[in-house]
Amino acid sequence: MKRVIPLFSLLLLLIGLSSCAPASEQTIFAMDTVMSLRAYGKEAEAAIQEASTMLYDMDARWSITRPDSEIGKINRSDGKAVKVSDDTYDLLSSALAAAEQFSGAFDPTIQPVMDLWGFYSDAPTLPDPDALKDALDSVDASQVALLEDHYVVAPAEVGIDLGAVAKGYAADQVRDLLLSRGVHSALCNLGGTVMALGSKPDGSDWIVAVQHPTVPSAYLCTLAVSNMAVVTSGGYERYLEIDGKQYHHIMDPSTGYPCESDLLSVTILSESALYGDILSTSLFVMGYDAAMEYWRTSRDFEAIFVLSDGSVCMTGGVENYLSSCEEPCTFVK
Ligand code: AMP
Ligand code: MG
Repeated sequence: MKRVIPLFSLLLLLIGLSSCAPASEQTIFAMDTVMSLRAYGKEAEAAIQEASTMLYDMDARWSITRPDSEIGKINRSDGKAVKVSDDTYDLLSSALAAAEQFSGAFDPTIQPVMDLWGFYSDAPTLPDPDALKDALDSVDASQVALLEDHYVVAPAEVGIDLGAVAKGYAADQVRDLLLSRGVHSALCNLGGTVMALGSKPDGSDWIVAVQHPTVPSAYLCTLAVSNMAVVTSGGYERYLEIDGKQYHHIMDPSTGYPCESDLLSVTILSESALYGDILSTSLFVMGYDAAMEYWRTSRDFEAIFVLSDGSVCMTGGVENYLSSCEEPCTFVK
């Protein structure tokens, strides 16, 4: 399997620091990806340390592969109620709401399908079509019930995978934690989910580079942002290749196969990283026309789409943030 997340993470270059204020930095491996946290100010070092501990803890509770994680416990509960922590409950309720809103595109009960494809292992493989059909029967977020006192019930055959939302939720939590510790300038990259807190210490915007979906060592464009999340989903992030055909990790919940999207990548600019993470996955599955339709009605985010023919389309507001672009691009109003 091609796994380019660490490289991808590095490629979301955090460019252009020009202040003499000392930075506190940490790079950690959590949620199956490389995360880098950088913050400024006298509280920064302790706050970054706390944020790292929080990220490891979230990983331990949401990991799909650890049987003792809270998600692991729900998935092995055989239909019995499982009590979960506050933020697991919170994240699950956001994921279930997203499944309702983006029904047909987004479904956090995709776990049995991902498992059959072997995407949780180092040896993904083409699943047996009959087994896939069976697994698909249990992909249905409406089967998961959130009860009082933080109890969650899912039927035995249903499995939860929070991979499409966990990093977004975590990035928002990191931002809130840093702010509560008096940090007002930080740039955190949770494996392609970037949170720009405040601006650089000299008052200028953070510069965030967006990965080029077809040139692994290059970036597509750079964005000048402050107080904003930048979240990317793309088939290139994780895929299996057989006889020259790529099978990526973002599934069409109605077929159990990688979605036949006309998009190579979707980058969302939004205030909330969780919203950005929900959107990047959902709009990728929905495809370009439906994604633009959604943007026209909601107008509460901006987006960069790379289409499968290589063309780059951006929603009109991206123009305000674009600092450089390596490809010709069109702004859609
Ligand atoms: P992202 O990189 O945020 O787009 O999330 C992709 C991850 O979300 C995959 O690796 C799976 O763990 C999970 N996933 C795949 N397809 C879907 C889907 N249609 N809805 C929700 N989660 C999905
Ligand atoms: Mg996502």
